[in-house]
Amino acid sequence: MINKGAHENYDVVIVGASVAGACAAIALAPIGYRILLLDRAVFPRDKPCGEGIMPQGVDALDQLGLLPRILAKGAVKFRGIRYRNLHGDWAQADFPSAAGATAFGLVMRRLELDHLLLTQARGFPNITVREGFRVTDVIQDGTVVQGVSGHPVDRPDEKESFQAPLTIGADGAHSIFHGQCGLTRTYLQRKRFGVTGHLEGVSGLGPYVEVLLHPQGEIYVAPSAPATACVALLLEKKAMAFFKGDLAQCYLRFLQSFEGFRERVVESKLLPAVFAVGPLGFTVEPCYRSGMILLGDSGGFLDPLTGLGITLALKNVQAALPIIQKAFAARDFSAQMLGAYAVDRFRLVEDFLLFTRLLLNLSRPRFLANRAIRKLSHDPCLFQKLMGIAAGTNHYRDFSVREKLSLLIG
Ligand SMILES: Cc1cc2nc3c(=O)[nH]c(=O)nc-3n(C[C@H](O)[C@H](O)[C@H](O)COP(=O)(O)OP(=O)(O)OC[C@H]3O[C@@H](n4cnc5c(N)ncnc54)[C@H](O)[C@@H]3O)c2cc1C
Repeated sequence: MINKGAHENYDVVIVGASVAGACAAIALAPIGYRILLLDRAVFPRDKPCGEGIMPQGVDALDQLGLLPRILAKGAVKFRGIRYRNLHGDWAQADFPSAAGATAFGLVMRRLELDHLLLTQARGFPNITVREGFRVTDVIQDGTVVQGVSGHPVDRPDEKESFQAPLTIGADGAHSIFHGQCGLTRTYLQRKRFGVTGHLEGVSGLGPYVEVLLHPQGEIYVAPSAPATACVALLLEKKAMAFFKGDLAQCYLRFLQSFEGFRERVVESKLLPAVFAVGPLGFTVEPCYRSGMILLGDSGGFLDPLTGLGITLALKNVQAALPIIQKAFAARDFSAQMLGAYAVDRFRLVEDFLLFTRLLLNLSRPRFLANRAIRKLSHDPCLFQKLMGIAAGTNHYRDFSVREKLSLLIG
């Protein structure tokens, strides 16, 4: 075993170089911190996702100066959401166009988006990127996080350690910080799973992300080119029994056997790769320790139903930025100082969490989901108001009890 010892010349070590990690590095680099960005993957790499970025996420990417490049790389704009219930009723709404608010979402393949973000991060002289590096251990003195150690994925014997006053966990849903830092990870009672893939030759696509109700979940269709879409299945646990054997073939058969979508994909070509993940929903408490904060999915993820995961990760970065600056200015990385992140993070994402919980509750009994979509199909103003949460023009508290009840009653 070769032990390269501890490198201490970083201010911030970030584990995970996907949306949360790369964007945190990009946000922190102009301040001048020396940043180490680690990821076990070698980019470009694919990742299971529905690939729709909601308007507030687009806004956050724009604030980081990334939007022009993302658009230049072919990200496709969408203007709202279309739902279809099991009776074939359609409800459709555009994101509200209020002054100062972005009124469109974007679809971009994660293979390309994550690579673009990492390439941007690599462009800063004070960001060091290590791809193909698996972090295996969190270095701690008591409950104070001091850095991480790990090894190159292909050379498990070459152990290396990295120490810094601040460590950021942006390593996704199965974060190593959960277990090693004694954080409480609680799965939602309702176990949902995702199966994702890309199809070429899908008919009937428009400038909307579609959510089609299925007896066992939802089908989320995000158009990434005129006839190409990312199609994510969000399913209850028992539906996963269908996916035994060749995953790609099962995925295609699942789609081609669903009346109302079958006709649109009968001629489709499946593009690699197909992924299955889950169970999806969990919370983490707390999302910080002395010397450490968690960003993005590592800090908890409820469900992809509202397509807000990327936006949440970007909002986490926004919440963390001022607190990290304050911590460096005071040279205080205590849990008390970093705990302010949990408060600001919640404030910034509370609407998304409540919105996701509302839709999760409505989606469980199919008859309620059917009613809610029928209601939205007759009440486009209410639907657009709901879309305002994703666009940042409305808050969850703007919805009256009466409006919420009307979704239940249909
Ligand atoms: C089925 C499904 C559909 C979804 N649809 C949407 C959608 O339409 N819109 C949306 O906004 N969000 C969606 N999401 C959620 C979205 O994918 C996530 O919220 C988002 O990717 C979170 O980004 P992240 O950077 O926090 O984590 P991740 O993207 O998961 O990145 C974590 C990174 O950490 C690295 N890593 C992990 N462990 C280690 C380790 N030990 N050492 C080194 N590196 C490590 C990984 O390689 C990875 O690159 C969906 C999710 C699922 C499962």
